[in-house]
Parts: sequence; structure tokens; C-alpha cells
Amino acid sequence: MTAKILDGKRVRDEILSELKPRIESLPRRPGLAVVLVGADPASAIYVRGKVKASESLNIYSEKITPADDISTAELLGIVEGLNQRPEIDGILVQMPLPKHIDSRRVLVSIHPSKDVDGFHPYNTGNLVAGIVGPQPCTPAGIMQLLRRYEIPIAGKHAVVIGRSDIVGKPMAMLLLHENATVTICHSKTADLAEECRRADILVAAIGRKWLVTADFIKPGATVIDVGMNRLADGKVTGDVDPKAMQTVAGAYTPVPGGVGPLTIAMLMANTVSAAERHACSA
Ligand code: NAP
Repeated sequence: MTAKILDGKRVRDEILSELKPRIESLPRRPGLAVVLVGADPASAIYVRGKVKASESLNIYSEKITPADDISTAELLGIVEGLNQRPEIDGILVQMPLPKHIDSRRVLVSIHPSKDVDGFHPYNTGNLVAGIVGPQPCTPAGIMQLLRRYEIPIAGKHAVVIGRSDIVGKPMAMLLLHENATVTICHSKTADLAEECRRADILVAAIGRKWLVTADFIKPGATVIDVGMNRLADGKVTGDVDPKAMQTVAGAYTPVPGGVGPLTIAMLMANTVSAAERHACSA
């Protein structure tokens, strides 16, 4: 039996088209400010994708590009200015920031109601407590994918490899809220393959090319590959051996074309939700 491909582009298009009527019914265009410090080429590509998606939806977007020698205090000043502007609903500071900048202080300085990345500790608290609020885009997008492909979650065993604040931990929490039994694995996990073989839903968010091989996958499992590992020729590949997904899994996300497109779609969704909340409280 060939595994089913979970098409992230299709789900992205569905999410974006559902946002259009919500945007039209707002009293003004939603506004998204993207702060890109320095000239990291990968970050510039991500930011370009975010600005392009905003424009396609008639979301006002503003790109602020300070030089990479900006100080933490100066960056905090930019964020504070954006916090004060009523036409800006969402603020995104592209990570990673240069090493001399205190990234945590910068993230915490974004007003929680404008935190469209869902990284502010206030919103992390909401996520853990199951309170509505912006959720980290990549795991929120994966939940949309699982729902829209009607992959059963309740009562299933989900294994998440990776415990980062932006993918692994929120992913585990969202799966738990949907009543999966969740195991979180990381670099100190004693027998990673054995843990993974118990997964009905396996999410790999590691950043190591093809670390997950056929012997990690329970036959018929759903495999979500978050990894984006850049090869010497510039192409991107995942954390899971593609052949293993095709031959052992029941359904899987390809790289590229799986999880990546969902992340930007959920950023747009978080921006629209922020604009709706701001319109209600205006
Ligand atoms: P990260 O912060 O570097 O976290 C990686 C996690 O993987 C850590 O928890 C680490 O464990 C774990 N890990 C590393 N080596 C391992 C090993 N040999 N065995 C088991 N666990 C191991 O990365 P991230 O930000 O979560 O991103 C993960 C991947 O997803 C990257 O490739 C990134 O580019 C990609 N990504 C893609 C999207 C998208 O839109 N598609 C979005 C975000 C991230 P420790 O905690 O023990 O160190």
C-alpha cells in the first residue's frame, strides 16, 4: 500500500481562502509589521514569503530592516513604537537575531495581543491552559493539516521528536489538548527508535537530515516531517528519510510542500485573529 501524501499547499490554500471573507468584514485592513535585523539570506527569504502572503490577502505589511549592529535597546524602541500603533495588529521579529542582542527581552517586549508568532510567555501560558490566543504557527498549522485530513488524534499515541519552544513543546501541548497520549523525545532520549515505533502520529522537529529511518516508523503511522535541512545544492530536505515515509507510513508530509506552507498560512490567520480582537476592543 502506498502512503498518502498530506499536501501542505492544498491546506494552506484552504486556510488562506477562508481568511478572505474575515478580512473583508473588518473595519480596516489588518496590519503586520515584520522586523528583519541584518542581512541573513535565509531570514530574508522567509520574510519575503511573509510579506508576499500578506499582500495577496490585502493585509497591510510593513518591513523594518535595521542593520545588524543595532543594540538591544534600539530594537526594544522599535518594538515599543509598533506596540503603540493602532493600525499594526501583529508584530513579528524574525529569528535568529544577531548574538549580541537579547532575543528573550525582545520577544517579551512585543505586546501579547500583537504576538502573531505566539512566542510570548503570556501566550505560552494561554496555550498550556487551553485559553484562546495566538499559537506558534508551525504546530498550529500541523493541527490544521491533521484535522483537515481527518487523521484521528484522540486516544492515539503521538511522539514528538524535539522540544524547542517554537515547535516541539507547543506541538506536544496541542496534541495533548486533542486527547492524544504524548511522548516528547530529545537528544538525550535513551532509545529514540523504540519510542518512535510506538507512535500512531510521529512528528519530527529535529533539524538533522534523515535522522528518522524506516525502523523508527510503525507501519501505517502518520509521519509529520517539520525538518528543513539545507543541502549543498541549496535544496531543502527533511528529518525523515523520504523512502521510509513512502514505504512504511500510512500518511506523511513531504519536504518541501508539507509543513512549510502551513507556517505562513497560520501567521496570516494569527494576524487576522489579532485584527478581529483589536476591532472588538476598539
Ligand atoms: P531546535 O530548536 O534546534 O530543536 C531541535 C530539537 O531536536 C531539540 O529539542 C533537540 O534536543 C532535538 N534533537 C537534536 N538532535 C537530536 C537527536 N539526535 N535525537 C533526538 N533529538 C534530537 O530546532 P527547531 O527550531 O525546533 O526546528 C527543528 C527543525 O524544524 C529544523 O530543521 C527547522 O529548520 C525546522 N522548522 C521548520 C519550520 C517549517 O515551517 N517547516 C518551522 C520551524 C522549524 P535537545 O533539546 O536535547 O537539544
